[in-house]
Amino acid sequence: MLDKISYSTIFTFDQCKQHFKYMYVDKLPPDEKIKHISGIFGTIMHNTLGNFYLNSDFSFEQLRWTFFDEFMKSVKTENLDYTKITFDKLIARGYSMITKFYDVQKKSNLLVRPEFVEKPFKIYSEKLGIFITGRIDIGIDGWVEDFKTDAKPDHKRATDTLQLTIYSFAYRKLMGKKEKGVCLFFLEDGKKDIVTRESKDFKVLKDKIVEITSFVKNAKPEEYTKNTSNCFFCEYKSRCNKGNQKISMSFTEQP
Ligand code: SF4
Repeated sequence: MLDKISYSTIFTFDQCKQHFKYMYVDKLPPDEKIKHISGIFGTIMHNTLGNFYLNSDFSFEQLRWTFFDEFMKSVKTENLDYTKITFDKLIARGYSMITKFYDVQKKSNLLVRPEFVEKPFKIYSEKLGIFITGRIDIGIDGWVEDFKTDAKPDHKRATDTLQLTIYSFAYRKLMGKKEKGVCLFFLEDGKKDIVTRESKDFKVLKDKIVEITSFVKNAKPEEYTKNTSNCFFCEYKSRCNKGNQKISMSFTEQP
């Protein structure tokens, strides 16, 4: 039985029901901790921007030093051979991102003390009988922003994603007021896709949560189907025969 739900829960449910079962229904520990450079880089950027807002005098110089500090911390803690994985390229990519980020926030008058940074939440929904959980990158001057390091600007994604609907719901509960807007901030391009959330969006979220909780209540084991399109990144692949098949096939296809 599910007692809490987050955007990751919903995303996993839509991606692969077997993965969802391992993770959220059976609550099995992952077979291995998989770290990909894109994930590590994303963490560096999130930590950089979060710490910049928490500690900064809001100068670009401070942002630049925060980035290099977070980058070098990651080199030590992740124990990766950065010389082999294009150390210079990652530095240049991060530097380009923070430069664009700074310009955009300056033009938007958002180089100010935020309402919160990296805010975890766990809010009980009386109507649905379940906790809604997550973590918001930043709430600032009434805006809710989610940083994306690995995606291109996509207004439809911002309009449709339940991630921003959940953040809007959480912001209103946490702050006791309606947000000005929610956005996906695509750091690579320095572009924000800003949208709003209204009652029809919360109805979509409610319907999705009801769909998932009803599924968990009623589904037979065979209804937890496997979708092999993302097996490479799955932390349960060694438990999952179909996933293993797909992965070994993809390796044998390599030249
Ligand atoms: S290995 Fe693939 S099919 Fe199996 S649970 Fe993971 S994502 Fe789903």
